[in-house]
Amino acid sequence: MPPIFRFAPSPTGHLHLGHALSALCVWREAEKVGGTVLLRIEDIDPQRSRPEHVAAICEDLDWLGLRWDGEIRRQSEHLDDHRAALDRLAAAGLVYPCRLTRADIAAALARIERETGAPWPRDPDGTPRLPIPGAEPSPDETRKAIRLDMAKALVALGGETLTWRESGCGPAGETGPVVADPSRWGDVILARKETPTSYHLAVVVDDALQGVTHVVRGQDMFYATAVHRLLQRLIGLPEPSYRHHRLVSDADGAKLAKSRGSKSLRELRADGWSKDDVIAAVDALLRVDVLKSSA
Ligand code: GLU
Repeated sequence: MPPIFRFAPSPTGHLHLGHALSALCVWREAEKVGGTVLLRIEDIDPQRSRPEHVAAICEDLDWLGLRWDGEIRRQSEHLDDHRAALDRLAAAGLVYPCRLTRADIAAALARIERETGAPWPRDPDGTPRLPIPGAEPSPDETRKAIRLDMAKALVALGGETLTWRESGCGPAGETGPVVADPSRWGDVILARKETPTSYHLAVVVDDALQGVTHVVRGQDMFYATAVHRLLQRLIGLPEPSYRHHRLVSDADGAKLAKSRGSKSLRELRADGWSKDDVIAAVDALLRVDVLKSSA
């Protein structure tokens, strides 16, 4: 069986240089080992995902000369698969319904930080750790999310040390084998009121169902890999290998993002950039990283 890679953009905007770097890293790694690349559209957020962005993603990849194998998998069409995995975790008693809204959490956080004068602990992605003493769910009885009970999940792991094979590196230069430390995370969200899944759940379920053997993605997902390894173990899914590549930053050192006004690939195209200009720009960015890491 040839190795299977995937490129998994969210259709919430147009692709920019950061996506081009990610896509080129995926396709190049696949090429090195004779693997194939699948295209997965991560469209579980109904508010932010747009079908026209899916078409634009395909057009941009095509322009870059990157061809994927087989049918595109749209996550929103496979919610039953995600629900089945959630049911499995629920049957093991590892999840709980949570009625706190973002506003409830923000209010409790502001109060506890004011009272203690210290920052409240946060997950690696910046999410405040639950429970926050005195956090009051809104009076409306409906659950807002289903969360993993991290304390119970760690008990279910039975003291096993999880690791993963890392062939890239983390933000602090970590290379594999890397010890996965899910205890750096709190009760992560596994499903929301409007969607029976979350990024963490959908990504591990889909990687497994698509037979993905190699995950190549940005360093911003490095610490999330600990949650993914935990979920893979708890649900009984196979373990892919991982390669986290550097992120493209703008002149201020912040991650490139459409929301910060970075130009999309189609805007660069309209400015007269060719596919080779994009590839050269990506190579220059990757070279800077090599120079930095060997310094
Ligand atoms: N949909 C995620 C993104 O666009 C990809 C995360 C992953 O590759 O696991 O950032």
